[in-house]
This record gives sequence, C-alpha cells and structure tokens, in this order.
Amino acid sequence: MTVNDSSPMKEKLAAAMRIMVNEGLIENSGHISARIPGTDHICILAHIHSEGHVLRDTTAADFHTVNLDGKVVEGERETVGEIYLHTEVYKVRSDVKSVLHAHPPVTIALSIAGTPVTGVYVASGGTVFGNGTPIYDSSTHINRPQDGKKLAQLLGDQMAIMMKGHGAVTVGASIEQACIVTLNLERSAKLMLMAASFGKVRPFLSDKELAESSRRWRGDSEESHQVFWAYWGGRLPK
Ligand SMILES: [Zn+2]
Repeated sequence: MTVNDSSPMKEKLAAAMRIMVNEGLIENSGHISARIPGTDHICILAHIHSEGHVLRDTTAADFHTVNLDGKVVEGERETVGEIYLHTEVYKVRSDVKSVLHAHPPVTIALSIAGTPVTGVYVASGGTVFGNGTPIYDSSTHINRPQDGKKLAQLLGDQMAIMMKGHGAVTVGASIEQACIVTLNLERSAKLMLMAASFGKVRPFLSDKELAESSRRWRGDSEESHQVFWAYWGGRLPK
C-alpha cells in the first residue's frame, strides 16, 4: 500500500504540522510521521527547507513514504536528517502509529534543568507522564540509526521523551494522539514552571493513581481525540 498526495493520512499529518507551528511547539523545524497500515513503511514530512517552504504552510504534498531503514520508497525528496528517531521507534513499538518531533520551549527549559515533566496536568482526562518523562541526555541530532535506537530504548513503553536542550518526541496510537501528547507535555511543563514560582512542585497522585490515569488516557476513544483535534484545529488561522 502506498499513499497518494491527496490521502486523508497526508492531509491529517499536514494539519498536525500547522497546529504545532500555530501553538509555538515547532518553529521551522520538526516533523511528524504515521505508519502506513499493513506495511513496514511510514509517511513522513520530507526535507522541504531547501525549497524555501515554511512549515506553517505544510500541505499533503510535502509528505513522502520511507521504509524502516530510512530509505525513500515513494517521492523525489530527501528525508529529514532525524529520520531515525521515527524509524527506530516504529521498529520496537508495534502499538505506535504516529511519531512527532517538536521543540516545545518550556519542555526544553526543564530538560536543561534536568527536571522531568511529571503527571501534574489532569484536566484533559488524565496524564501519561507519571513520575517523570525520560530525558535523552544529549543535544545531538538523531541522524544515525544507533542514536535512534538509544532514544527508542530510553523511551521504552512511554509516550514521550524529552531531549536535552533540543526538544521532545511523542508517540500515539493515532496522529491525533501523538499531537495531543506533545500539547499536554508542554502544558504540563508550563504548569510546573508556574507552580515553582509559588513553592516546591509536589506530586499529588499516588503511583497507583498515575498508573490508572495513564491506562485510561492511553485507552481513550477515537471520539475523544476528535474533540481535542477539533479544538486545536479550530485555532488555526482561517
Ligand atoms: Zn530537532
């Protein structure tokens, strides 16, 4: 199965990029991908900077198809340099259908301080960040398969990983979920920053409650993702 330029998957991926830029979580670099059902291929944003494109204008035509070795199987463009943070995660996580790499500023600030984002924001139906999101302890770009492997290993079965001084990678059972995890990661980081100005940030959920919250949130229905998606999409400029 391949994905043509007008496929709903590419349209949704392009909308995801525009939402991330609109929310300040991606400036002019960052990328999203999705697994093409029934294949070992992914649909991912191509390297479009050389053509003078800006990510706020991302369209379905900016995506191409790549295999899990990082080789282009459909399309003429080069892959993004950090292709391996996508491919190596898909190799070890059959549950993951979408991977997003963004540069959320407050999350990055916490990564520099060595402070993991924790499960402090539950208003969106729960949290998946538990006692702390893993921090990839290097700011080098994930341009080599071995670095992608390391990142995937540290991610484990979590849904988000912070990258020191650099950004974050989030995953989801859908494109919408990968985006919502990034949005919630940054919202949680902002709340931790605000709370710190009033005093020490104190965990308020027990391990059992955090595990239950994560289980519930991960199992959220497609419909609930659509509600969030409609909200974030509605904030895009008309
Ligand atoms: Zn990056």
